Amino acid sequence: MKCAICGKRIGTTFMNKILGTYVYKNGKKYAICSDCQRIMTIEEIMDRL
Ligand SMILES: [Zn+2]
Repeated sequence: MKCAICGKRIGTTFMNKILGTYVYKNGKKYAICSDCQRIMTIEEIMDRL
């Protein structure tokens, strides 16, 4: 799984959850890493997808 913003590989926890979040745009699911999630607002992330 790669971050849709920076392209960095996103790790997963032992529970198989990603270290980040998922956002949905136009019916598609995108993975966002915790770094991008921290430095950007959800509006900025949506603009870049
Ligand atoms: Zn990222």
